[in-house]
Amino acid sequence: MKHNLNIQPLNSWINKSGKEPLVIAGPCSAETEDQLVATAHLLAKTGKISALRAGIWKPRTRPGEFEGIGSIGLEWLKRAKEETGLPTAVEVATAKHVEEALKAGVDILWVGARSTVNPFTVQEIADALKGVDVPVMVKNPVNPDLSLWVGALERINNAGITKLAAIHRGFSSYEKSAFRNEPMWDIAIALKTLVPNLPIINDPSHITGNRDLIGYISQKALDLDMQGLMIESHIDPTVAWTDAAQQVTPAALSEIIDHLALRKPEVKGAELNDKLTELRNQIDKIDDLIIQKMAERMKIVEKIGNHKKENNVTILQVNRWDEILHKRTSYAKALKLSGEFTEKLLELMHSESIRKQTEIMNAGQENAPAEKLTHA
Ligand code: PEP
Ligand code: MN
Repeated sequence: MKHNLNIQPLNSWINKSGKEPLVIAGPCSAETEDQLVATAHLLAKTGKISALRAGIWKPRTRPGEFEGIGSIGLEWLKRAKEETGLPTAVEVATAKHVEEALKAGVDILWVGARSTVNPFTVQEIADALKGVDVPVMVKNPVNPDLSLWVGALERINNAGITKLAAIHRGFSSYEKSAFRNEPMWDIAIALKTLVPNLPIINDPSHITGNRDLIGYISQKALDLDMQGLMIESHIDPTVAWTDAAQQVTPAALSEIIDHLALRKPEVKGAELNDKLTELRNQIDKIDDLIIQKMAERMKIVEKIGNHKKENNVTILQVNRWDEILHKRTSYAKALKLSGEFTEKLLELMHSESIRKQTEIMNAGQENAPAEKLTHA
């Protein structure tokens, strides 16, 4: 199902000059007037930045940590904008934040990951935005829940905000990995599929939590056709009051941007397109074949189900499943498929087989959708 939100294209409200890639940068937090203004100047001097970000009100996990400099920071942002010409962006989490930010002339607002999880908070922000024409970016919720992300975007859009974008900043996960927040790219891709006209900006800083990985994630985001990057940059990251490990100096940021390869979603030139069409045709044929084989496999699964039913045998036979898993993954490995991929694929096929056989076993019983499933 596709959602068609009423959204204006990104270049109608940011990066009108068409810098590639689009980069929003600035410190995690505004700390002092000097830190913010000096960072802004260095960022502007690179010529590669489209907007200046800074956290004024900071959501912190534990009390007693630096919770943002507060409203005074809005004055510093105003000065930074006056001196550099960069439009400004801040995070808002309450109606009061919205009012203050708008009053101070902030150009772009964003909803943080900890706010997107809470429909009450998002609705409060949306209500405060009614009748205002300001661009808003909505970060993904902390937990991997696409609907919550879409819901927040809809609430803001329903308030009349059409200059809208999503920010992909990764998802919290209990399992520790190289990343601070797991990218779970498939959720961002699902959002793109669901709302095709919604721009998505990637935030490699909060995904990685580690400045050494920012280039890698930025490249991946661009390769997945995301429309921009939001990267935290601080004049002296090592002494930053928040998120020190993930911030980069404006000079380091400039270098990261220089190393990014810009690829086009559609290849230009007839010859390249011919090649791409030919390869896509091959893929289409193989996909059709895979589906056909899956259907054949499922027919056999049904026969097995009927046979088990007639002979009163349980659906699941663990030894048989172990054997399948083992044999197939070693075969797949020999064909250079990753073990993880093969296991996931087999598990998916297996759970569908079990579902099918359960239907067969229960056929004729109350509430079972039996008729159409037996003896096709
Ligand atoms: C931030 O952008 O500094 C921030 C607090 O991010 P998030 O909401 O993604 O945690
Ligand atoms: Mn941060």
